Amino acid sequence: MSETDANDGGVRRRTLLKAGGAAAAVGLTGVGINAVGEEAEAASDESGRETVHGNCWICRASCGQEVTVADGKAIDLTGVDGHPKASAGEGREGTLCSKGMGQLNKTYNPNRIREPHIREDGELRAASWDEAIEFAAQRLEEFAEEHGPEKFLRYQGYPLGKHPWHDLVFKNLYGAPIKVGRKTTCHGPFSDSWAWMSGYGREWPDWQNSEYIIAWGRNVMECFRGQWEPKGVLDAKERNDATVVCIDPRYTKTAEVADQWIPIKPRTDGALALAMANVIIEEGLYDEEFIGNYTHGFESYKEAVADKTPEWAAEITDVDADVIRDIAIGFAEAAPSSVAFPWTGIAYQSNGFKNAQNIQALNGLVGNIDSKGGTRQWTAGFGLDDPHEKQGIDVPANYEDQPTPDYDDYPFQRHVRDLSHNLVPKAVERGDIKGFVNNWSQPPKSGNTRAWFEALEEMDLVITVDAFWTGVSKRADVVFPGASQLEQPFLQTGGDGSYSTNGWVTGSKPAIEPVGNCRRDYQVYKALAEEMGWGEYFPWETGEEYYDSQLEAIGLSFDELDEKSYEIVADFEYRQYEDGGFDTENGLFNFDLDAKPEYKALADDIGVSTAPAWHPPDDDLFGETTNEEYPLLFTDLMVEQFSRGHCQALSQSLEAYAQRFGHEDEDYRGNYLHINPKDAKARGIEDGDWVKVQSADDEIELMANLWEGIRPGWVGTENGFGVGSAQPDEEGANSMLLNKERHVEPTTGMTARNHPVEIERLGGEPR
Ligand code: SF4
Repeated sequence: MSETDANDGGVRRRTLLKAGGAAAAVGLTGVGINAVGEEAEAASDESGRETVHGNCWICRASCGQEVTVADGKAIDLTGVDGHPKASAGEGREGTLCSKGMGQLNKTYNPNRIREPHIREDGELRAASWDEAIEFAAQRLEEFAEEHGPEKFLRYQGYPLGKHPWHDLVFKNLYGAPIKVGRKTTCHGPFSDSWAWMSGYGREWPDWQNSEYIIAWGRNVMECFRGQWEPKGVLDAKERNDATVVCIDPRYTKTAEVADQWIPIKPRTDGALALAMANVIIEEGLYDEEFIGNYTHGFESYKEAVADKTPEWAAEITDVDADVIRDIAIGFAEAAPSSVAFPWTGIAYQSNGFKNAQNIQALNGLVGNIDSKGGTRQWTAGFGLDDPHEKQGIDVPANYEDQPTPDYDDYPFQRHVRDLSHNLVPKAVERGDIKGFVNNWSQPPKSGNTRAWFEALEEMDLVITVDAFWTGVSKRADVVFPGASQLEQPFLQTGGDGSYSTNGWVTGSKPAIEPVGNCRRDYQVYKALAEEMGWGEYFPWETGEEYYDSQLEAIGLSFDELDEKSYEIVADFEYRQYEDGGFDTENGLFNFDLDAKPEYKALADDIGVSTAPAWHPPDDDLFGETTNEEYPLLFTDLMVEQFSRGHCQALSQSLEAYAQRFGHEDEDYRGNYLHINPKDAKARGIEDGDWVKVQSADDEIELMANLWEGIRPGWVGTENGFGVGSAQPDEEGANSMLLNKERHVEPTTGMTARNHPVEIERLGGEPR
């Protein structure tokens, strides 16, 4: 790491802190004190302290960090003021969530993998980097000769910043064409419906300018894409007197700040959205100008909702008809500064795509698309340079023209680009996949878990980059110990953040050297490429040099960016569609998806309407629902302590989670089965009891947490625990053991995380 830079009179980058000036940071929703590891604690001499920048990528948000470093050890963290992701804008405090704050705990964690490992005679053993790289290259060559690279699967987690190098090696050069789409593990139903309706991959609410926010299956106050989101909601309440409505069967942190919490019956959101449209059309509150000039399919939408009255929806959703009328009118009257925003609460449903389409259509109906305070279209407003192009290096596309497998039982697979997560074990069984490379992810926690474990044992070659021993790294043939958030350079661009009409770039050099024998991503991929004979494609010495070349497009050097942490670099207006229309087949916003050829073909295949429509969860197509034998609906949940950060064994997060649910005195740090006291009483279950969750397919055991915050008839737990997880003793249960191949949403292939179950009391002592 470079030495302290001079103060240039502008931005102070590596500023020596005054004695005693390193205050502990407090995340917006997170814990207030950093638990530092032994190595960091040893660095207590303040004389060598400096503050440097970093970026968190434990979720994809890239919040900017200020890292206090003493004698080469990171000892404290906070957010960066004004950062587009970590802050609410210029002059506003920068914070990190508890997962971001937990990065010291991660970096110096005694359970961290610190050496490369290779499998020999069936056993994993520590190896030098030279040995591990040589071994991996040789096995990859043998694999290509024996099976062909088309049978090598790519699976990517975070950080997004290293995907170009991962793709360069495995997709472009090695020629592996198949990857598992994150859309099939996280967000397919709402992101695909939005992409097909509007032409943009994603939307993001203009939170801070909004006057009416419907967080729909979205716990924005703690499961966010950066700290700016909850801050934006609070700003909207304070500055605009915005109304916040939270539609969720769970009393979340978002429900706590909402003006109205609507504990809807799970999986009936689509009916509520149609009834709101019915009210808005009946009352004449829709946006005629937007609909007339920029949309397609309004007539079929209108027809679909004509008889979907609030009274009709009240029966289905358990939401009072007058409440439905009130929120429909409030939402429409606040337009175009209103937003109805679906998230994973909708994506996790087996009828999620149609429900999401119905919700997204409401935004088109009131014309709040890409408006101030509405739902913005995803854009960064600028691009970076292609470093290979600048050097005149032609990158091959060896993945092209490789065959990809077909799965007749699953029509969506013909229409989604990447392989559905749940079908990987089938592909292995059929011989379509024989090996895979895993990049900072834990696939068995994302669905079809038992089959995934068997598939991993079956594969001829498994390569992983990770920080902890998980269900994948324990089964791998080659384990590369990756550098943590604090040990890597980072670069990310975007438009979603606390600057509503600006694109930004954020980046940082490594704050510290990697611990143990861990290596930075670029160094791992460069070494592997050189061993495979592809060194010419990695001419840059470091990732920093590669980023530097990318940044020339905006006249910024990586050094300068590192000094600043972030830079606002582009302007884009509201209502971008007015200049050239929407990026859809017909240039319009589509209520009816009949203009989208892929969806039209799929809808015809499976017999559903292309227009908004109601498909109940007990519809044959949309999976299983509760019955006499399994009367409770189980679901997978997220909380701030683990939301998308559950690949990390953070004892700090485990403590915060146990405290949150009042079990800190128990000698147990696994996940809980959240159950309403009414359902618990009917089964003789008390708080802290050990219970069995039984589905038609499988069972898991958990500690019960009696909680009024979960709707009766609904139970759930947080994922990322139990067998295969990064927690060192695998305490708790892996909720995805209940998930099987067939549990997928039929439009997108997304893992459906709802299961009919019965709960049985096992006793008071953990087993
Ligand atoms: S986990 Fe996500 S939201 Fe939290 S600090 Fe890191 S990047 Fe930001």
